[in-house]
Amino acid sequence: MFTWPTNYDSCYTIAGVITKEGVGLHSGEKTKVRIFPYEKEGYYVSFADKPNEIFRLTQDLIGSTMLCTAVKLGRRNLYTIEHLLSSLAGCGLSYIHIEVDGKEIPLLDGSAIEWVRAFEEVGIKKVPKPENFIRKINESIIFNKEDSLIALTPSEKTTIISTISFSYKAIGNQTFVIDLNPKCFVEMIAPARTFGFKDQFQELSELGLIKGGSLDNALVCDGDKWVNPPLRFHDEPIRHKILDLIGDLSLVGLPKAQILVYKGSHSLNARLASSLKN
Ligand SMILES: [Zn+2]
Repeated sequence: MFTWPTNYDSCYTIAGVITKEGVGLHSGEKTKVRIFPYEKEGYYVSFADKPNEIFRLTQDLIGSTMLCTAVKLGRRNLYTIEHLLSSLAGCGLSYIHIEVDGKEIPLLDGSAIEWVRAFEEVGIKKVPKPENFIRKINESIIFNKEDSLIALTPSEKTTIISTISFSYKAIGNQTFVIDLNPKCFVEMIAPARTFGFKDQFQELSELGLIKGGSLDNALVCDGDKWVNPPLRFHDEPIRHKILDLIGDLSLVGLPKAQILVYKGSHSLNARLASSLKN
């Protein structure tokens, strides 16, 4: 059986080629992704119709939209990249080339687990460790927006302590603490699906914004109950928030730090990531 490392002391890439197809959240269209090992460190993307134009993903290319993380690659945007990036960084993988046929990364089941299972199928192999694979932190950093905050203090490990608080009773207050490593990521974070709210879901569908959104790729909360139970964990929403945070930090390197998040968001995560980049 495949076993994931219990630390980030070594860096890996995949040992074979992965192909996955699925529906894009925004367009509702089928999109296809192939993932290859690459000779250089980092994450690279090309579009299937322009194989010679290969972009290295950097924090500067990240633009967020209302509903997902997008990257600007030349004249095109690539949407909904966050869960794939989270699964790569969480599993300790680098030296990766992603080829996309379409304009979105498929949402799959709304979590990172299908990517992880695909990595396990082809296996992983050790590669030289990039300098900022796990980023050393020298001083504390804090950002806040209204009552939400993200704070980071230097540590020998990568520890995430995250809390959300929703008035919807089905979610309420949830806190999750994790000393991150590939094995813990795969077991505790990767299976957690994205979540949304019934009223918001209807509004966005009417605006034609989430043509690919369905009860198969998001948990939908309706006040004090879930529209599509069962949950994979009783605290699946907070675990998904951590999945998103890992994706948002993936292009600058996970920090050796205690990261404390209260009511986290992509925009706060992005501010932290921008402050960490070289
Ligand atoms: Zn997400």
